[in-house]
Amino acid sequence: MPRYDFRCRACGSTFEISRPMARSGEPALCPEGHDDTVKLLSTVAVTGGSGATAPRPASGGGGGCCGGGCCGG
Ligand SMILES: [Zn+2]
Repeated sequence: MPRYDFRCRACGSTFEISRPMARSGEPALCPEGHDDTVKLLSTVAVTGGSGATAPRPASGGGGGCCGGGCCGG
């Protein structure tokens, strides 16, 4: 069963609660009895959505290398 970290905003203490993943979004009660708690993000998986565009190869252009002697040998 996964464990979730919570922080109480009333007393400032952090605590851990084991609960099924289906109930991870439910509010947790502080051990001191406060209900003003927030769930802390323990493991965050961020998936980037920026598509990288590869630079296009320069089409055309006069080849000046193979005409000489640099690749002919
Ligand atoms: Zn508290």
